[in-house]
Amino acid sequence: MKSYRKELYFNTPTRRAFINITPQIEECLRESGIKEGLLLCNAMHITASVFINDDEPGLHRDFERFLEKLAPEKPYDQYDHNGFEDNADAHLKRTIMGREVVVAITDGKLDFGPWEQIFYGEFDGKRTKRVLVKIIGE
Ligand code: ZN
Repeated sequence: MKSYRKELYFNTPTRRAFINITPQIEECLRESGIKEGLLLCNAMHITASVFINDDEPGLHRDFERFLEKLAPEKPYDQYDHNGFEDNADAHLKRTIMGREVVVAITDGKLDFGPWEQIFYGEFDGKRTKRVLVKIIGE
């Protein structure tokens, strides 16, 4: 069995962002040489997500509104977590959008359903954060 590990780095200029990272993940898969197996991709920070959905800008605005309704960024003092930090909303948003995705590798490709793409979801940006890619198989 082969095993591959890589960390990807993201530093978004805005507090919140969704980035389609599918091309970088496909590059990792090529680099690994693995044809059959499983790929895990997870955010290594508790205020960022990795999730799978459609690359459609309207949907991304809908996610933003949906998350702001559930866990609005402001006022900061509505959250117990916001003492030394102001990112309680980011922790909550990350929990809703998830930590990781697992994708089957078949015939050297990500075995996606229709329209599936992998996204990095940033909820407390403007600093460098890491995403882990782990691939196992043969
Ligand atoms: Zn925090």
